[in-house]
Amino acid sequence: MRSAPFWAIASVVELVLGENASVAERSRLAALRGLFPPRTAPVIVPVCAAAAAVVGLALAQGGASHLAGPAAALLLAATLAEAFPVPIERVAAGATSFANVFIATAAVVYGWRTAVLIGAGSMLAVELYRRTPAVRIAYNSALYALAAAAAGLGVEPLPDRFKTGLLASLCFYAVDVILLAAVLARIRSERYVSVARSFFLSTLSPFVVMAAVTGVLVQLWRQSPWWSLLLAPPLVAIGMHQRSLLETVRRQRELDTLKDEFIAVISHELRTPLASVYGAAVTLEERDLDNEMRWRLLGVIRRESARLATVVNDVLWASRLEAKKTRSEPEWCDTALLVSEAVARAAELSPENVSIVAEADSVVARVDPAQLRMVLANLIDNAVKYSPQGGTVDVRVEQSNGHIRFLVSDEGIGVPEAERERIFDKFIRLDPEMSRGIGGTGLGLYICRELVGQMGGRIWVSANQPRGSTFAFEIPAEEGGAEA
Ligand code: ADP
Repeated sequence: MRSAPFWAIASVVELVLGENASVAERSRLAALRGLFPPRTAPVIVPVCAAAAAVVGLALAQGGASHLAGPAAALLLAATLAEAFPVPIERVAAGATSFANVFIATAAVVYGWRTAVLIGAGSMLAVELYRRTPAVRIAYNSALYALAAAAAGLGVEPLPDRFKTGLLASLCFYAVDVILLAAVLARIRSERYVSVARSFFLSTLSPFVVMAAVTGVLVQLWRQSPWWSLLLAPPLVAIGMHQRSLLETVRRQRELDTLKDEFIAVISHELRTPLASVYGAAVTLEERDLDNEMRWRLLGVIRRESARLATVVNDVLWASRLEAKKTRSEPEWCDTALLVSEAVARAAELSPENVSIVAEADSVVARVDPAQLRMVLANLIDNAVKYSPQGGTVDVRVEQSNGHIRFLVSDEGIGVPEAERERIFDKFIRLDPEMSRGIGGTGLGLYICRELVGQMGGRIWVSANQPRGSTFAFEIPAEEGGAEA
């Protein structure tokens, strides 16, 4: 999650300014010309110039003197808050910094000069650490400097008892959003008023929270800066909770999208074989078919119904695994026998250009045969399915270091290295648009991983030489049970 300066430097600003930097790298001339995103210079130049003047004045008038005392703690807190922004749902930039709480407090307690230095200093430190492009560093720091100045000057004429922190917070907020909206309106070529309105609306509720926190901090700070430390645990806890909540929401949304895709895929996966079975059955009803045609049609029905059964089976297994309703019923089995059964079943349905060979010594293991069959069937089916140009699928069983290792190698399209972890997740298909015309539900490898896990083993994929992939899984060979 990227951070934003106070409230919401929307990612679009980052994007445009970021692009600007890459232009700058190309040539110095382009860098000079492209220093400001198109149309934003009339906003960025005066904002930065005004901020430079304000910072200069603050330094000249001794704003830094307080930083030798407890105000340094506010600078540190603002910098940390800026470095670890809190994600807030519905705030456009994704993450909101609490730095304004500490800057507004400084404005109330130490005056605008110190607040300006804390505002600009905290942003400068974080942006320099992040190595953001120079224009962005300047603009974001300027925004904080001017907002901090507004916060301090806004409360200066008030008598002390009215300096609660609320007005300072409001001034900071208003200046920040007004200037931010000015840049965004230019970048998006939108009306200033509508950009500003949407900003104010989307950030109003977090603003109320932060203004209230500022009020509390100001009161505590006045009693003693030490008392303010009491605010740290709840603020940190809220920040961490908010982060984990947003991460959960993000994952949930990702899963929802995958489920939507899954529904589209599964409808296709069910409809296609059904249509073939129906078509073949209707044609078979005609009496004047020769024998060869009858056998061909029967073959179609057999293949397509097996495909249907596989899809339905995958969905059932996945839902049982999800509901944790799969119970392992281990028994002593000859793994070589299970392998040869799986190979024979797959060979019946595989296209002519794919040959499946098995090389398995007789290894007896204590496993649930239904689960092992399911894993083998899925891996062999995939090996055949993802070998559209044909080739050999090689199934082997080996024994090593107290484990039984099963290997299914193919000469097919292979799995890119970057995807070798992800493909075992639920609903993940590397080609969801089916541009290669290979169907599937994205459940097979998820089921394999879960079942192998239940057997106490692990599964992985590596590249096969010279092409294709090798899926391997190993399960523990029980003491005294396994024999070569
Ligand atoms: P699917 O029903 O899509 O085959 P799986 O969970 O079995 O679902 O596989 C997930 C994805 O992993 C597939 O969509 C495919 O992109 C990739 N994949 C699986 N097996 C192979 C293989 N043997 N060769 C190449 N890619 C594979």
